[in-house]
Amino acid sequence: MGEFELIRRFFAAAPCAQATEGVALGIGDDCALLQLPAGEQLAVSTDTLVAGVHFPASPDPFLLGQRALAVAASDLAAMGATPLGFTLAITLPQADEAWLQGFARGLSQMAQNCGLALVGGDTTRGPLSLTLTVFGRVPAGQALVRSGARAGDLLCVGGELGDAAGALPLVLGQRQAQGEQADYLLRRYWAPQPQLALGRLLRGKATAALDISDGLLADCGHIAVASGLALHIELEQLPLSSALQAIAGTAARDCALAGGDDYVLAFTLPPEHLAALQAAWPATVVIGRAMAGTGVELLDASGAVIQPPRAGYQHFGSSGD
Ligand code: ADP
Ligand code: MG
Repeated sequence: MGEFELIRRFFAAAPCAQATEGVALGIGDDCALLQLPAGEQLAVSTDTLVAGVHFPASPDPFLLGQRALAVAASDLAAMGATPLGFTLAITLPQADEAWLQGFARGLSQMAQNCGLALVGGDTTRGPLSLTLTVFGRVPAGQALVRSGARAGDLLCVGGELGDAAGALPLVLGQRQAQGEQADYLLRRYWAPQPQLALGRLLRGKATAALDISDGLLADCGHIAVASGLALHIELEQLPLSSALQAIAGTAARDCALAGGDDYVLAFTLPPEHLAALQAAWPATVVIGRAMAGTGVELLDASGAVIQPPRAGYQHFGSSGD
């Protein structure tokens, strides 16, 4: 199977590559053409996933397809953008039909879930790696940036934290666990649901937002720096799933604070918007507050500052490789 047949069979013919609104020209030409409504801006984000670094060396291709796109689409959610399309640059060690079929199915399932169309890409041979670029649209001036938080805003998250970190020992085969709770955590790792609807609800309300990919503490640190203030997080308020508590035990909180890969939104919100948001997105939880100062502080139930666990994952930092 040559490169062009591979592209045609597994990507151009995939359900996610079929014509949709906003895509004036899809796969097959030198560029795709995306159509933006008047008054809207294009939101663009790229993510690379490398075998053995971002996922186990020989993953299930269906699960990998789902997860790769979910990770990329989560950045659109974090900007409050409406999904338009994505490109896929894939490097493969060989053209294995069963593998490609499974991968394309997983990709298409998540694409449908998110409302994203595959509009182009590149296909090369080499060690397995994926680069996905997602495109979305957002009314001019309404994108959710990291720099707008103000003292007095509530610090909120859009759902339970730490599940993906809790699943990691299972994903890596370092630990065996069976049953409903283990399955739940594995689903949260392999098929995170980008919080696109929440992102759109936050337009014009949240003062800053991002998706938690590197861990709550590390990512809140980004908002604190960009907005020039301090964020206080109340340890007791962190929402933890019962599955995470059952599987990770006393490490559940550390998973929530420092574990990456949650793809839940964290955002700052003026208190007057909280009631309406909780009605529209019941999983919203207030975990702290923005105030004058710098950095991220962790408080116990009595309000005393406590020492956080290790910070989030960094590829070139002292805690990563
Ligand atoms: P070019 O040589 O002009 O860069 P290619 O031969 O690489 O084009 O690709 C042909 C067409 O197939 C282009 O429209 C490209 O976007 C698309 N394409 C290539 N690889 C993929 C892929 N993995 N997924 C989706 N579309 C792809
Ligand atoms: Mg090319």
